[in-house]
Amino acid sequence: MSIVKDFLLQFTLMVIPIFSYFTFILEKVKEDRSIKMFMTILWGVSILLCMSFPVEYAGGARLDIRFIPLLFGTLYLGVRSGVFLSALIILYRLSFGISMGVVTTVVVLIIMLPVIFYVQRLFLRVNRDRRIIIATGLSFLYCVCGMLVFAGMNGFSIPVLKVQGIHLLFTIAVTWFCTVLIDKIREIHQLRLEVQDSERFKVISELTGVFAHEIRNPLQVSRGFLQLLDEPDLPFRQKEYIKLSIEELDRANEIIHDFLALGKPSNSTYGTINVSEQLKRTASLIQTFNVNQQVEFQTDIQDHCWMRADPQKLNQSLLNILKNAVESMPNGGTVSLSCHQTADGHIRLTVKDQGIGMNPKQVQRLGSPYYSLKEKGTGLGMMVSYQIIHSFKGKISVESEEGVGTEFVIEFPGVRT
Ligand code: ADP
Ligand code: MG
Repeated sequence: MSIVKDFLLQFTLMVIPIFSYFTFILEKVKEDRSIKMFMTILWGVSILLCMSFPVEYAGGARLDIRFIPLLFGTLYLGVRSGVFLSALIILYRLSFGISMGVVTTVVVLIIMLPVIFYVQRLFLRVNRDRRIIIATGLSFLYCVCGMLVFAGMNGFSIPVLKVQGIHLLFTIAVTWFCTVLIDKIREIHQLRLEVQDSERFKVISELTGVFAHEIRNPLQVSRGFLQLLDEPDLPFRQKEYIKLSIEELDRANEIIHDFLALGKPSNSTYGTINVSEQLKRTASLIQTFNVNQQVEFQTDIQDHCWMRADPQKLNQSLLNILKNAVESMPNGGTVSLSCHQTADGHIRLTVKDQGIGMNPKQVQRLGSPYYSLKEKGTGLGMMVSYQIIHSFKGKISVESEEGVGTEFVIEFPGVRT
C-alpha cells in the first residue's frame, strides 16, 4: 500500500506546476516563445519533484513518474524542450551517484526519445481520442522498455515485477488523466478567447447600424449633386457640384477607413519599436498634408524611446490626435509635440494645441463613437485612438479649456535599451 501512497504523492507534486501555469501564467504571457520557455521550466520542476521522492525497491533501485512530464513537455512543446528535459533527468539522476540506475535511465531515454520525437507532430494534429491513445501508448512502451532493461541488467524476480507492474498501471492512468485534463483546460481557455473576440464583434455590430446611417448621408448628398449635373439647363455650376460630390465621397471614405480600423485583428506586427522614429514620421506626414498653412509645428522629440507596440496602429492613433489638434485651430496657432522617457522608464508623449478647446462635458464624451462637433467629422478618430492606446497598456489624459487649447498626455510602459 505504501508504494501506491508514494506514487500518489508523486502525482500530486507533478500536477502542481500544470495548475500553476494555467492559473497564474497563461493569461499574462502572450508571446509564443515565452510560453514555451515557462512551460518547459515548469515541466522541469515537475520532473525534479517526482525524482526527489521516488519509490525505492529491489535494494536501492528508484521508480517514479518522471516520464509523464517529459512526455507532455515533448509532445506539446516540441523536440527542443524534450532534449532539455531529458538532459535535466540525466543530470539530476547523476547527482544521486553513479549506479546501474543511471545506465537504465540513459538507455531507456535513448530508446524512447526518437519514438516520441517521431510522433510529436502527429500528436498535435489529431483529435482528443487519438491523443489519449498516443500518450498512453507511449507511457506503456516506456514502462515495458524500463522493465526489460532492468531485467536485462539485474535479472528477473517476482517482487520487483510486482512493483514495476503497479508503476506501469499508475503511469498509464496518470497519463490518461493528464491528457484529458490538459485538453479540457486548453478548451476552456480557447473558449474564453473566443468570448473576448465576440465581445469586440458585438461592439462592432452595434456600431454598424449607426455606421450605415453615417455613411448614407454623404452618399445621398453626392447622389443629389450628380442628379443636378444631369439637368440640361443648369450647367454653369458644374465644377462646384463636382467638387462638393468629391468632398462628400471623401468623407464617406474616411468613415469607412476609421470603421475598418476597429475590426482589424489586434496582433499584426507587434514588437519593440522606436517611438521617436514613428512620431517624427507621423509629424512630417501631417505637416505635408496640412492644408491650414497658418498652423505651425513645434517638436521636441528625444531620440531612442523604445516601447512595445504595433507601429502601424500607433501611427494611426497619433495621426488622429494630431489631425484633431490641427483642425481645432481654424485661425492658426502652434501644435507642440513632445516625446520623452521619464525617470521611471515610461514613454511620455504630449500633443498640445492652441485651438478652440473643449468644456468638461465635451472632454468626458471624447472617445464615444460618432461623437463629433465638426460639420464633416466622423466621430470615430478618438474612439479608435483610445482603443489602440489601451491595447498597448498606455494611459491617456486630456486637459482642455475653451478658447485656450487642449493637451493630450499619453504614457506607455517603456522598454529599456
Ligand atoms: P472627428 O475629428 O471626426 O470629429 P474625433 O473622434 O477625432 O472625430 O473627435 C471627436 C470630437 O472631439 C471632435 O469633433 C472635437 O469636437 C473634439 N476634439 C478632439 N480633439 C480636439 C482638440 N484637440 N481640440 C478641440 N476639440 C477636440
Ligand atoms: Mg478626428
